[in-house]
Amino acid sequence: MRAAVLTGPGALSVVSVPEPACGPGEVLVRMRGTGLCGSDLAVYAGRRPAPYLPWILGHEGTGRVEAVGAGVGGLRAGQDVVVEPDYCCLACADCLAGRTSACAGRAAVGLTVPGLLSEYVVAPAEFVWRVPAGLPPEDLVCVEPATVARAALRRSGISPGQSCLVTGAGSQGLLLCRALVEHGATVFVQEPNPARLDRARALGATPLPPDGNGVPYFFETSGAPGVAEQGLRRLARQGTAVLIGMNTAPLGVSPRDVVAGQLRIVGSMIYDHPGDFAGTIAALGSGTRPRLGAVVSDRYPLDDVRAAFEAAAGAPGKVWIDLS
Ligand SMILES: [Zn+2]
Ligand SMILES: [Zn+2]
Repeated sequence: MRAAVLTGPGALSVVSVPEPACGPGEVLVRMRGTGLCGSDLAVYAGRRPAPYLPWILGHEGTGRVEAVGAGVGGLRAGQDVVVEPDYCCLACADCLAGRTSACAGRAAVGLTVPGLLSEYVVAPAEFVWRVPAGLPPEDLVCVEPATVARAALRRSGISPGQSCLVTGAGSQGLLLCRALVEHGATVFVQEPNPARLDRARALGATPLPPDGNGVPYFFETSGAPGVAEQGLRRLARQGTAVLIGMNTAPLGVSPRDVVAGQLRIVGSMIYDHPGDFAGTIAALGSGTRPRLGAVVSDRYPLDDVRAAFEAAAGAPGKVWIDLS
């Protein structure tokens, strides 16, 4: 089978690798598509180390069940599926308490275990979700990042009718805008790229006015240094900031500002198994508009995977690789 293999920073090529086989409790998936996101780009560019080289990237994947291992119930060959690409241990205190995103033994597909930019992958059955048949791959490659957005919204505690600021309208920010609008929130967005801002507008978000009242909720998705501080300054007293985007610059806000503003700052790491993924999957079949695929801008064949990685950082929406 063919897979996209990283051999060094910016060095990505399509090579032939052995096809995996599924053992007990595992599922062999023939991949149809894999989306690219910021963490993939960070490993590609060498800003985040791969565990070893050559390395297979990718964690936002959909495909069709090819075979199931012994003891796997509820899934069979031919079903459309999405992989939940964070294999928590399901046995530690955090997992047992439902906080699987905090699991110290969690394997992150494409980051700590080999990824999904491959024609076939094997995944534990607990983390392979059946999806309604006939949905376009553009929707399905967005299930994982949409679940990141869903978890951030859930952890914020925002109610319908309340207003919020979303900074960054890359694919993660767009999916969050979509989720918040669907939730009934008033969404202001801040994004320097005009094409991305247009997409956020089309999803029901409004550009942030340069001044005006503070907002009770703020979601940071860009990961760009300094943006979290800008958003914190726009928070109303007793406001909640939810940080999703990452960088390593110290957060330039004083304890005095946090205390006097009575601010709540929440770091939102991925999602918790199984509730957040289950919620995204359940909404897929509901005919909700706009579809998740509304945030997709570009499709590349596997042979052009390097061009896709080069284009993704500036693309107006989600870039995905067609593996079919
Ligand atoms: Zn992602
Ligand atoms: Zn655990």
